Amino acid sequence: MRPVVLISGASRGIGAATAKLLAAQNYSVCVNYRRDEKAALKLVAEITALGGTAYMHKADVSIESEVIELFDAAEANLGPISHLVNNAGILFPQAPLVDIEVERFNKIMMSNVTSCFLCSREFIRRIKTHGAIVNVSSGASQTGSPFEYIDYAASKGAMDTLTKGLSLEVASKGIRVNAVRPGFIYTDMHADGGEAGRVDRLAPQIPMQRGGTPTEVANAIAWLLSDAASYVTGSFIDVAGGK
Ligand code: NAP
Repeated sequence: MRPVVLISGASRGIGAATAKLLAAQNYSVCVNYRRDEKAALKLVAEITALGGTAYMHKADVSIESEVIELFDAAEANLGPISHLVNNAGILFPQAPLVDIEVERFNKIMMSNVTSCFLCSREFIRRIKTHGAIVNVSSGASQTGSPFEYIDYAASKGAMDTLTKGLSLEVASKGIRVNAVRPGFIYTDMHADGGEAGRVDRLAPQIPMQRGGTPTEVANAIAWLLSDAASYVTGSFIDVAGGK
């Protein structure tokens, strides 16, 4: 049977690159999006034009009822979900902690951590046989992102802890849980953080002297999901050019 993967926040960036790669590897793909229906439609059309199978569903994955509806719809259209990529995430403009309002902090936690918890729980509740989860964390969980986004970094630290703990809870059931920690990757997320050219500015500080591409992150995600990683769980891959 074809594996079925659900990718949260897949309409652009790393999520979209992962959707394309996994579809080419014969996964049926559920493309979750929150706002940009046009982008999701374009992605699904690209996948199907190449002979792949994709289904798109709008849901805010920080809201429990929408996550349940998302999983119900994905299963109804593609069959039982065997793989999950917790990719959806946001950040806000760079600011030191003293200038961060509590509303912003809570929004970051809901979007980046609660979403990961809700989708992981729904996945584990439904899965009957072997499967795998990959969480898209960040190098920020290690650096703490001082003066930029301590809130975002803390949310990624929480994601790392969820990865470790859940991997141990479900290891004996044949479910693997791992994470990737991207460094500076060329996506629209940096514009949301108030600096579209951030990756180019920081490139000289990266040992490999360049930012990464969404496909380079997708490659690591695909490997962790695959049977090639059958003895890997509770692990983290830094996709950060040596940073
Ligand atoms: P992106 O281009 O901004 O894409 C993020 C996607 O997540 C968007 O499609 C967004 O949809 C979606 N999303 C956000 N909140 C959502 C929610 N509550 N429900 C459903 N979808 C939601 O960012 P990206 O760079 O590809 O980031 C993907 C992941 O990689 C994130 O978790 C990010 O933290 C992580 N990461 C990125 C970098 C980097 O340098 N780019 C580095 C480290 C880690 P809408 O546009 O509709 O909101």
